[in-house]
Amino acid sequence: MSGSEVAVALDVGGTGMKCALVGPDGAVRHSERHPTDAGRGPAAVVETILAVADGLAAKARADGLAPTALGIVVPGVVDEARGVALWSANVGFRDVPLRELASRRLGLPTALGHDVRAGGLAEARLGAGRNAGHVLFVAIGTGIAAAHVVTGSAVTGAHGAAGELGHILVRPGGPVCGCGRPGCLEAIASASAVAHRYTELAATGITSDPGSATAPGANRTMVGAAEVAARAAAGERLATQVWREAVEALADGLATGQALFDVETIVLGGGLAQAGAGLFDPLRAALRDRLTFHREPRLVPAALGDEAGCLGAALLALDQLEKR
Ligand SMILES: [Zn+2]
Repeated sequence: MSGSEVAVALDVGGTGMKCALVGPDGAVRHSERHPTDAGRGPAAVVETILAVADGLAAKARADGLAPTALGIVVPGVVDEARGVALWSANVGFRDVPLRELASRRLGLPTALGHDVRAGGLAEARLGAGRNAGHVLFVAIGTGIAAAHVVTGSAVTGAHGAAGELGHILVRPGGPVCGCGRPGCLEAIASASAVAHRYTELAATGITSDPGSATAPGANRTMVGAAEVAARAAAGERLATQVWREAVEALADGLATGQALFDVETIVLGGGLAQAGAGLFDPLRAALRDRLTFHREPRLVPAALGDEAGCLGAALLALDQLEKR
């Protein structure tokens, strides 16, 4: 590709789409965001995706750039080989042949990928996992998702569902996960699990800080995970307990991940990873405690923020050009 060539990249989420024109060196030449409005149903969302992609290609041409490929990443279960969005809870996709629809509309070679795998791909190649051949990217937000990236490509699995670290069983009989099973990592250590657990315990008054106890049945105001982390750092007892439980569960999950994948670097992204040293210091120690003969991976925060998925979409678009 020459300097004027760009990939058109879209990261489609439940609430918004992050879109960009990206050069072959990974440089973002233009970016824009659009609402997904998933409530309109999958057909309308697909039409918006195609219109936004078309608009980006037109914008590139108007700016004297040459769009050469299109990359779209979506949440849920994605069959990357066939280019089909199989299933998504928050966008409503069911067997949508998005790659074919998009390549027909734009006339560009198109790659369809999974949002978290694409984010992991970008972190492994352009971000915090740069220079490591084996990277585990773990995004901790409303849920916990992960991507295992080996020498620059993300492992998809036989059914498009590889790397679901959030559904490792860490506490049999524990809180029920969104997937329906009790005790998944996600049900204990996701940002929403931490927020729920803290808010619930605070409401029942199970705390030895008498000043912060609330009467049972009092109105509950949800305390976010970042706030729980801050209160734990400040030494508040209940926050410290909930935070420690989350860190221990995460360390169990990561130790299992390391036993399976033996990576050089684990990159933590998503909202919870912004807790900084309050997360990374105890988590490193807890992970070290759990490893026996496995080598300890580098544990680092993600570097690309919420643009990782969009950059990953661009990488997928550019990669398929090389394979042709
Ligand atoms: Zn689960």
